[in-house]
Amino acid sequence: PPVTVAEIRKTFLQFFASKGHTVVESSPLVPGNDPTLMFTNSGMVQFKDVFLGTDKRPYVRAASVQACLRAGGKHNDLENVGYTARHHTFFEMLGNWSFGDYFKRESLKWGWELLTEVYKLPKERLLATVYHEDDEAFDIWTKEIGLPADRVIRIGDNKGGKYKSDNFWMMADTGPCGPCSEIFYDHGEHIPGGPPGSPGEDGDRFIEIWNHVFMQFDMQPDGSVVKLPAPCVDTGMGLERLAAILQHVHSNYEIDIFEKLIAAAARETGEKDLNNPSLRVIADHVRATAFLVSDGVIPSNEGRGYVQRRIIRRAIRHGYKLGRKQPFFHKLVPDLVKLMGTAYPRLQAEEKRVMETLKAEEERFFETLGTGMEILDAALSSVRAEPVEGRAQASTARTDEVAQRVALSRTKVLPGEVAFKLHDTYGFPLDLTQDVGRERGFTVDTAGFDAAMEKQKAAGRAAGKFKMDRALEYTGSGHPFTGYERLEEPAKVVALYKDGTP
Ligand code: ATP
Ligand code: MG
Ligand code: MG
Ligand code: MG
Repeated sequence: PPVTVAEIRKTFLQFFASKGHTVVESSPLVPGNDPTLMFTNSGMVQFKDVFLGTDKRPYVRAASVQACLRAGGKHNDLENVGYTARHHTFFEMLGNWSFGDYFKRESLKWGWELLTEVYKLPKERLLATVYHEDDEAFDIWTKEIGLPADRVIRIGDNKGGKYKSDNFWMMADTGPCGPCSEIFYDHGEHIPGGPPGSPGEDGDRFIEIWNHVFMQFDMQPDGSVVKLPAPCVDTGMGLERLAAILQHVHSNYEIDIFEKLIAAAARETGEKDLNNPSLRVIADHVRATAFLVSDGVIPSNEGRGYVQRRIIRRAIRHGYKLGRKQPFFHKLVPDLVKLMGTAYPRLQAEEKRVMETLKAEEERFFETLGTGMEILDAALSSVRAEPVEGRAQASTARTDEVAQRVALSRTKVLPGEVAFKLHDTYGFPLDLTQDVGRERGFTVDTAGFDAAMEKQKAAGRAAGKFKMDRALEYTGSGHPFTGYERLEEPAKVVALYKDGTP
């Protein structure tokens, strides 16, 4: 069977081409047809209008390998990176589609054929979920494909919120929707976790590899559903998850591409322990941020650019944790281009600009990172000494519910004002401070953070027009990064903001 990611991609596309599918290029990470969507987070994004009926293609079957990003926006896996075996921010999704052509039977049977006969996955390790009311899919799995009934799990729509699984897919609150069927791989008893739909489903023993969505209804504003005249299929399989199985490893981070990226991260940070989670974070984030630059997203203080900045700064902070005090992150770009440039020529063509953009952001953040970390460290030691209940009462900005939770859980809480100061003066995105917190067992008072930001905005408004103009000069927008003027070398910082970053 195919083993390397390059072979796995090729095999997938060849298989679906042999079943009459048109092979379509990966679309950019910034969706061209949907201003409401932050990033392309699945293969179907470029076909959204086809499903809605407002766009037509000269084919009714398509397949692709799509570059996806799940950071910021509706799907956000940023917090999972470094913690689970299966999540990246940037990943590649293998997908096949039917636009009013074939439906459940072909989709599931071809899926099974590809997995078991072409990729040669052991059948006894595979299991499937179906929507609890979808007898049609259940019967295809059990009677036609021959999967034992005890390995086909019925899952609801999770309206009760009991578990994470949800087998009813919706494009939005209204419009195309329908049940889905997901294929899971059992990595073995030695790994903690339970099957889908059980309390242990968040573990990494049973890993979801392929989602088959059957769009057969049109959701009405009143919540009722009408049958679509021509049902569609939308599937997505994580390339890295499949590669892990085929390369006989458990984690996505042990596959060929990541083994090399992690080695490069170790080289640039001097870290000896290749299992250090910070190396995984850096390896993941260099892919995400390099692809973002090559698709035109540069670090800034708002929207997509701010997500880009947050990912870069998270990676830099992990390097700092490993002892780096100088830019290192951009030096991984040539390694990445070597590994992925052939499959993604745009990345190759933009290599120089990618490196320069990452380097500039590193140089900027290293100016304030060290001092910021000292402030954070100092604040954290004093947090430890303080009684939790007292502080929860002292904050008036907090809702009762939050105050209660804080008091009850007895978690250490970093005051929101500190997190805001780090954000405002030292360029620490809130999620970066929270990331440090998670490592050291404290949470951040986000209500206090919001309150501090509001207070500063109000003060800015009261200070009159001159100050507002200065704020605009720094950021090009009303974004709260106005606090840079309080840095010791304001001239330098102004220059940084004028170096071409919008
Ligand atoms: P999970 O439950 O593991 O978070 P998901 O249900 O959110 O996955 P889907 O939205 O169904 O994932 O996406 C289709 C497929 O894409 C998944 O079955 C998985 O193989 C892959 N995938 C999803 N999110 C990620 C990610 N963050 N990193 C790598 N692969 C992913
Ligand atoms: Mg998910
Ligand atoms: Mg899932
Ligand atoms: Mg899924």
